[in-house]
Amino acid sequence: MKVAVYSARRYDKSLLVKANEQAGHTLRFLEDRLTAATAALAEGCGAVCVFVNDTVDAEVLALLAAQGSRLVATRSTGYNQIDTQAAARLGIAVVRVTDYSPHSVAEFAVGLLLAVNRKIARASARTRDGNFDLDGLMGFDLHGKTVGVIGTGKIGTIFARIMAGFGCTVLGHDRYPSAAFEALGGRYVEVDELLACSDVVSLHCPLTDDTRHIVNAQSLARAKRGSVLVNTSRGGLIDTDAAIQALKTGQLGGLAIDVYEQEANLFFQDLSSTIICDDVIQRLVSFPNVIVTGHQAFFTVEAIGQIMRTTIESITAFERGEELVNRVPEH
Ligand code: NAD
Repeated sequence: MKVAVYSARRYDKSLLVKANEQAGHTLRFLEDRLTAATAALAEGCGAVCVFVNDTVDAEVLALLAAQGSRLVATRSTGYNQIDTQAAARLGIAVVRVTDYSPHSVAEFAVGLLLAVNRKIARASARTRDGNFDLDGLMGFDLHGKTVGVIGTGKIGTIFARIMAGFGCTVLGHDRYPSAAFEALGGRYVEVDELLACSDVVSLHCPLTDDTRHIVNAQSLARAKRGSVLVNTSRGGLIDTDAAIQALKTGQLGGLAIDVYEQEANLFFQDLSSTIICDDVIQRLVSFPNVIVTGHQAFFTVEAIGQIMRTTIESITAFERGEELVNRVPEH
């Protein structure tokens, strides 16, 4: 098949080319994000391969369908950027990557938590500058603390297991309780109890209409004072303005995020020589108790290799008319 690969970075190109060696699809790599303005670049491609910050709304899907595209393959687990109902109406199948190292994201969430709690990035910046003072670098033991996990699916459960290994009490909130989570000692509670009792809250649910701004001014007010919030799931789970207010008052004791609601215009690019006009992200990075990374939790050798292999397998299955095991539900 001819495949237009949007948001393609150097690592996407080399690993997709490797994964495609046997399959032999014709890959058209595009550095641009998919938008209504760039959809024409996929002209003649039966499949379009996208990533988390591409715009795959009804307008873009209609443009793609008119050009003959019949498959959208996202190189991610989350598919909140795709209007799946519009895709179904237009006869476009949507596939994602469900099974790639959930350890990559869970381990990164733990890393972010340690970094923000123990001020590791600040300490490293200090020592590079010859400053070995410890003032301002005090953290707290994770051992004995309560960690709340919102979304106890694949990633959330692994995160919970690691936290249990640290000696934490683990609370969970999920619509569909998991035996694996309970087996490691996790206890399910309502979201309000989770927030009120947890020293650390980590978000691992998908972004949906139900979960958008699940962390907002009201929920932050109900949270344990001084708790640390970690988000490696999707930026839209947090009302960022409310988080900033809670950081200012000390209600939120720390924030560690790999995702940001307005990340589409920032992440996956080097903007170090430009003026960044997003005042919200600039305010966030100015807090000493906030750490922001640019959506890299998935970025391990194991995870990326699997993402590319699964993506190529899905495209091949589609071309052959086989069952699409990674098809996204049409709702
Ligand atoms: P998963 O489907 O295995 O788990 C998600 C869990 O969230 C499920 O158990 C589901 O029941 C639960 N859930 C759904 N709605 C909920 C709600 N309203 N309240 C509480 N729980 C709810 O998915 P996963 O593989 O664990 O991935 C989780 C998320 O992580 C993805 O949706 C994606 O947004 C994010 N992610 C981020 C990165 C990254 O690089 N930062 C990489 C991969 C995935």
